[in-house]
Amino acid sequence: MSEESAHQKVALVTGANKGIGRGVAEQLSAEGMTVVIGARDPLRGEEAAAALRASGGEAYSVTLDVTDQVTVREAAKQVGERFGRLDVLINNAGITGSGHVSPQDAHDQVPSSVDLDMVRAVFETNVFGVIAVTNAMLPLLRRSPARRVVNVSSHAASLALTVDPDGPFTALLPSAAYSPSKSALTALTVQYAKELQQDGFLVNVAAPGFVDTDSNNHTGFLTIAQGATVVVRLATLGADGPTAGFFSEEGPVPW
Ligand code: NAP
Repeated sequence: MSEESAHQKVALVTGANKGIGRGVAEQLSAEGMTVVIGARDPLRGEEAAAALRASGGEAYSVTLDVTDQVTVREAAKQVGERFGRLDVLINNAGITGSGHVSPQDAHDQVPSSVDLDMVRAVFETNVFGVIAVTNAMLPLLRRSPARRVVNVSSHAASLALTVDPDGPFTALLPSAAYSPSKSALTALTVQYAKELQQDGFLVNVAAPGFVDTDSNNHTGFLTIAQGATVVVRLATLGADGPTAGFFSEEGPVPW
């Protein structure tokens, strides 16, 4: 048995108490990974972990608010004490900034009139939170023989799609918060991939598609399971898999 398959893999998913993160946790659990549910509300995190255990999986929950360094550090400590390592990190937690309005329909994201505090809050979660969690988990990931990091971005992050006159976003409102935060996340992913490539990490960014969740008031047309698929695929790449890539289920997404 290779070193990679000699142990049951451990995956941490942020924002896994509901939505796409929960779907990813379910699929990783079904693949036999031990799953750590990161949730800012411990009760809802434990409820999601208990549901995975009831389905036969091995699952735990940790309290994790990606904007709160105390919980980030404590979550890393707990994962380290329980498992001694981490194989897969899924940075899924994210906010639109406009409540349950789909960001491309949100009038409060229009650049010329946007509330700067809202932009800051969105970047705090969607970008700075990813740096905080990734850096806290890196020492644990370095102890894994198969290090995978997946950041959950969006097609809205794609500058090429945004400016394409025949692209999917032409009819939608411009956004100064959510879309730029996801563009920053894709850029950040490439920088992490570049730094960590020599250490055997595969670091990629996923666009799940328009998924039926609370974040868009259930206007998305994909199921959570469909949206989770590309994230899971990137989390379970073989050693010869890509790094520094931006993928949807249909294939590479243009930057
Ligand atoms: P969702 O159902 O609203 O779930 C978002 C999750 O993130 C929740 O668990 C939420 O926790 C958590 N979260 C938010 N802020 C957090 C923080 N500071 N610390 C820790 N967790 C936090 O939304 P979703 O649609 O599944 O979104 C998941 C990811 O997919 C996001 O990054 C989103 O941008 C991305 N995405 C979604 C779509 C789509 O169509 N749905 C499309 C492209 C990309 P609470 O329950 O405590 O709020």
